[in-house]
Amino acid sequence: MSDSDNIQTTGQNGRYSRQVRFTPFGADGQAGLAAASVLIVGAGALGTGMAETLARCGVGRLILADRDYVEWSNLQRQQLYTEEDARLRIPKAEAAKARLEQINSQIRIEAHIMDVRAEELEGLLSGVDLIMDGTDNFDTRLIINDMAQKHDIPWIYGACVGSYGITYTIIPGETPCLNCLLGTVPLGGDTCDTAGILPQAVQLVTANATAEALKLLGGRRGQLRGRLLSFDVWRNEHQEIGVKAAKKADCPSCGSHAVYPYLTAANTERSDVLCGRDTVQIRPAQRRQLDLQETAARLAKLGSGRVESNPFLVSFTDETYRLVVFADGRALIHGTSDIAAARSVYHRYFG
Ligand SMILES: [Zn+2]
Repeated sequence: MSDSDNIQTTGQNGRYSRQVRFTPFGADGQAGLAAASVLIVGAGALGTGMAETLARCGVGRLILADRDYVEWSNLQRQQLYTEEDARLRIPKAEAAKARLEQINSQIRIEAHIMDVRAEELEGLLSGVDLIMDGTDNFDTRLIINDMAQKHDIPWIYGACVGSYGITYTIIPGETPCLNCLLGTVPLGGDTCDTAGILPQAVQLVTANATAEALKLLGGRRGQLRGRLLSFDVWRNEHQEIGVKAAKKADCPSCGSHAVYPYLTAANTERSDVLCGRDTVQIRPAQRRQLDLQETAARLAKLGSGRVESNPFLVSFTDETYRLVVFADGRALIHGTSDIAAARSVYHRYFG
């Protein structure tokens, strides 16, 4: 008898019985989950939280993609990882898959160790019903947004930093898209590595985003929140904003003449290895106006690196790299010629 023969899947005490018994969801909601494929982009705090909940709930196929490996500073909130993963620097996608398979061996889990850009993302979309945002940066979110519109796939935006979290469910053809909402949602700047992060902010985004996933995949679209939700677990704030009116008929990402600007090379973040210099240059998709004084002060507060600045740039040396950032957001990452590593460091400090 194999292990799977011992798993009680159906019946009144079957593994999903307690959510099937929840009448508004029921057996047909569960069947919808079992037939669904969900792509989770990023396996950090949000990604692991969402993956665990969706695996336990019985989503039939989970696809995880992440470029990083597990570090000690992740363990405080990235709920699938162990000390052993950090000690061995296991890639997050693989560590997450191994743990998820222990939690639910009856679903399909696919892991991709990759830096998700437009091309990679498109390669992951076959059969995908829903994309969950577990990324740590706005450039990737804008790529997800365009790709979701292009392929008519719903996606759930989620982000948190400090004690703050925000989430919104984007349905192509119905709701405004992330591009429509630029100006309504925070564009980043502060990151978990600079401003810190409370796990409870992550858990609230995870809970709300995965509840939306259950409604969507379980065929209960009428129950979707339909509003932009944000909260702060430290300042005790909670806000829901109706943003339907923000949908723009001429939006380049979701309008009637959509051109998907963030899928074209000119508008995506560019990274180039600078020849012979052991340096990678990163140019963000969105031209930024960094306040260099504020940036220098923010980095200095970390207390774990050397910060120098002049009116044109800020230089920051952490344990491994030296980063030089200019007012338009462009940065040089010295000490590596690995583009994925450089992008990871860039987003760690600049969002
Ligand atoms: Zn739009």
